[in-house]
Amino acid sequence: MSGEDFLAHEIRDRIHINYKYTMGGQSKFFRDLKNEKKLQGTKCTKCGKIWMPPRIACSDCYADTEWVELPHTGTIRVSTIVWYTTSDFIQQVPYGIAFILLDNADTALMQGIFSENLVPSKIKKGQRVKAVFKRKEDREGKMTDFFFVPEEEYESWINKPQYEGGK
Ligand SMILES: [Zn+2]
Repeated sequence: MSGEDFLAHEIRDRIHINYKYTMGGQSKFFRDLKNEKKLQGTKCTKCGKIWMPPRIACSDCYADTEWVELPHTGTIRVSTIVWYTTSDFIQQVPYGIAFILLDNADTALMQGIFSENLVPSKIKKGQRVKAVFKRKEDREGKMTDFFFVPEEEYESWINKPQYEGGK
């Protein structure tokens, strides 16, 4: 008996799975993002903390929260440059990713930062950024429906045919 008697015969194949999942209590964020380009956070009804990403209940005092629309502008708190990514963003590599504190919010949102001239100084802490959205027909109610750009590049990005600004 030789080693080849136990050599596994392997066939490459693929499995295609159709499925759906729910955003649960955070669904309003994704619906309003898709339909109205709104960035909805939540505000604690007890301590007043404003959560972005939105939380249904306050993680500090466990009270219920209510929806509160946040501006499309914010400030980078911490960032890095992405070289490995998923198919959604492979064309954009390299790009920035950052924790962004939206104006009026108390917690920061992690989101992509695109720049026409990506250098570390463009995505440094304290950089002002503004949200840019995919066109309505391309928005799916997902985090990939929008991204942020340095404030000084905003006009240039929203003038590209595949993107649009908020209000
Ligand atoms: Zn609270």
